[in-house]
Amino acid sequence: MFFDTHAHLNFKDFYSDREEVAERCKKKGVHVLNVGTDLESSKEVVKMAKEHKGFYASIGLHPLYVKSADFSGEDYKKIFSREVLAVGETGIDKKGENIKKQEEIFREQIDLAHELGVPLILHCRRAHNEITEILKEKKEKLGGKERGSGVIHCFTGGKKDAREYLELGFYIGLNGIIFKMDLEGAIKEIPLERLLLETDCPFLSPRSDIKRNEPLFIEYIAKEVARIKGISKRDMANTTTENAKKLFGIRQKTSLLVK
Ligand SMILES: [Zn+2]
Repeated sequence: MFFDTHAHLNFKDFYSDREEVAERCKKKGVHVLNVGTDLESSKEVVKMAKEHKGFYASIGLHPLYVKSADFSGEDYKKIFSREVLAVGETGIDKKGENIKKQEEIFREQIDLAHELGVPLILHCRRAHNEITEILKEKKEKLGGKERGSGVIHCFTGGKKDAREYLELGFYIGLNGIIFKMDLEGAIKEIPLERLLLETDCPFLSPRSDIKRNEPLFIEYIAKEVARIKGISKRDMANTTTENAKKLFGIRQKTSLLVK
């Protein structure tokens, strides 16, 4: 069993066959956490989570979208439901515009997650220092090491960055980018009990023959991380699934196969 902790099955790449992709996930026992990137897409992922067993949602405003949208915590509170496991993706993306506004809205989403009592899903592009600064400033609003503060998704940092996120109570999310960048050194240092797997589909396919990524491809990521960690793919799948359930507070062992 796998837990894809970062997917975007609501994106237009899946418009024509979204239901089939979702059925494949259920058949193979892959849990899927779909991540919203603005208010509209957050509504969509909540809707999908209500429709499909084993699907969950994260609600939030992506740093690249702050230029075209304002953020109001109240709007997101209105769509919060039991299927919502996190706030995000939020953070700072240096490829985007208006870094000051990104930082401001990031702070507001940390407050929102705290109010809702859920962890954060962080997005970071060339902004580790800025992000960890804000996290430190807001430390009392984070879940912390015991409960878990959230996950740094699509981790691309070095050993030092990993250590800093771990220290702040974050899990480290790994996806197909491990095939494009050399992250072995950092991955070796991250304790197994703090690792999460994700696909970030439709992006970052780990297969060279199929461009559109999907949650089932998580097994290729699991295989590679298992190799780096020197354990079996099965153990990697089980451990990271348990980690995700612990962080996101899914206590019951839900069987995807029983309808
Ligand atoms: Zn994403």
